[in-house]
Amino acid sequence: MEFKLHGVRGSIPVPSKEALKYGGNTTCIEISNASFQLIIDLGSGFQNVKIRKNIPKFIVFSHFHHDHTQGLPFNSAVFDPDNQFHISSALLNRKEIIKTLKNSFSPPAFPLDIMENNLNFNIMNFDTFKAAAIDFFTIEKITLCHPGGSFGYKISSNKKSIVYALDHEFGLDKDIDNSLLKIASNSDVVIWDGMYTMQEIKDKKGWGHSSIEDGVIFHKKSKVKKLIISHHAPERSDKDLDSMSKTILPKGVFFAKENQKIKLT
Ligand SMILES: [Zn+2]
Ligand SMILES: [Zn+2]
Repeated sequence: MEFKLHGVRGSIPVPSKEALKYGGNTTCIEISNASFQLIIDLGSGFQNVKIRKNIPKFIVFSHFHHDHTQGLPFNSAVFDPDNQFHISSALLNRKEIIKTLKNSFSPPAFPLDIMENNLNFNIMNFDTFKAAAIDFFTIEKITLCHPGGSFGYKISSNKKSIVYALDHEFGLDKDIDNSLLKIASNSDVVIWDGMYTMQEIKDKKGWGHSSIEDGVIFHKKSKVKKLIISHHAPERSDKDLDSMSKTILPKGVFFAKENQKIKLT
């Protein structure tokens, strides 16, 4: 199993020369092996995902804020009749997902109604999605703390696992943090929401994101091998991230970089 980060930015894409090294696209991660392709969240990074033919394709949403959905109609592979996508989210049921995507991607919000006559989208309740994926990977949902709700996921295949935990506010609900810690403890990689610094988060309580320093604490507590801090704030420059990499990130903790590919063997 391997994964590739196609978007590592929170809130809004950043087409800036200050963000060339870590990348300016919003959240999108691709997890795959020879037999399947799974994409978690369709931020603007989704435009760069190469959809592979002749293997099952899965898409799952943590939640439906714009930075996690805005890339959906900008990858032409979703309109290719040869491609079928199993689509779901633990946050909403099938009907609600259809309604939500239709609202975002139909007039007046978008020129076309992408849900109308799009036979490529097989939108499912989460339990049905989980069952459809079982021959390829297992997916467990993780409740997170975020305005309007968000679900993280643990993806496991061939004894390797990745925990995706965006968007989440660490420290707001002990029970939720403890369950996240439990599920992450025996995984290989955790993708962590580090939108803010400890200083910045002081007046952002209830905004639904964690800090970079929280990620360092979580890495130590969970003993996870690799913790990747993502969902970078739009104003966070390459220079800031490089400097914090040196000063506050311990061994095993990294800042997510667009186009970064990691093999779990
Ligand atoms: Zn977000
Ligand atoms: Zn959000």
